[in-house]
Amino acid sequence: MKILKIQTGKVRIKENQITKSKGFTPQMLKVLFGKKWADWSPIYAWVIDHEEGIIVVDTGETYKTGTKGYLPKWHPYYALAVEFDVKQEDEIGPQLLKMGIDPKKDVKKVVLTHLHTDHAGGLHHFPNSEIIIEKKEFGNASGLKGLLAGYLPHRWPKWLDPTLIELPNDRYFTFSKSMPVTKDGKVMIVATPGHVANHISVIAEVDGLYYFLAGDTSYTQENLLNGIPDGIGTKESVDTLKDIVLFSKLNPTIYLPSHDPLVPNRIDNKETIS
Ligand SMILES: [Zn+2]
Repeated sequence: MKILKIQTGKVRIKENQITKSKGFTPQMLKVLFGKKWADWSPIYAWVIDHEEGIIVVDTGETYKTGTKGYLPKWHPYYALAVEFDVKQEDEIGPQLLKMGIDPKKDVKKVVLTHLHTDHAGGLHHFPNSEIIIEKKEFGNASGLKGLLAGYLPHRWPKWLDPTLIELPNDRYFTFSKSMPVTKDGKVMIVATPGHVANHISVIAEVDGLYYFLAGDTSYTQENLLNGIPDGIGTKESVDTLKDIVLFSKLNPTIYLPSHDPLVPNRIDNKETIS
């Protein structure tokens, strides 16, 4: 089994979204009207090359975010608080083809950590894969309710008919809910609520090393280790960060969130949380 990273362009958000700040102003107002933009961050997606078939975790973003009318600019978040830089060749489909993987034929499963556009924006490349989504997350992201919450359900492919999962109360080390993705149990989905209420992460064990494909549990490893949640998540974020840190004390863990600029060093040097 091998873990490969794919960067599907860049995103820029406000400092107040990356790191929750103190004070009485509601967090969402700070995110929308915060004056300080963070640096451009990468948007990562993952390939798990497993004996039972290729699994993709998150699908990154589409270049269409840069075309007129694609993003709902009437929505305050898209009007004020996020910018994308994605070229057509940055999308996950063309990048997989370059790696010798045909997204339409060779990818058995796609797991989405959650449905925010920078994770679901490349879904259209996988019409023949099993798409695995947490059931409540799918509900929360669908329809008008989803659109108002900042998801883009009207941009999902028409053919989307996901396998909706509910994680059972099966403990996997420090995580109280989990489910295997592969028969050998080397690829697991765990519940990591916080960034969104039903966020999930994928852990892949390769030769005793645990690759923690974290989605948006935190934007950086620094914030994970400091136990600082992001500026938009739920109260459960802090407990999830603790679960991940405790997990890393039990198992050598390479922490790979979707937007951490230090991901390449970490994966190339097999740098574990210490
Ligand atoms: Zn997100």
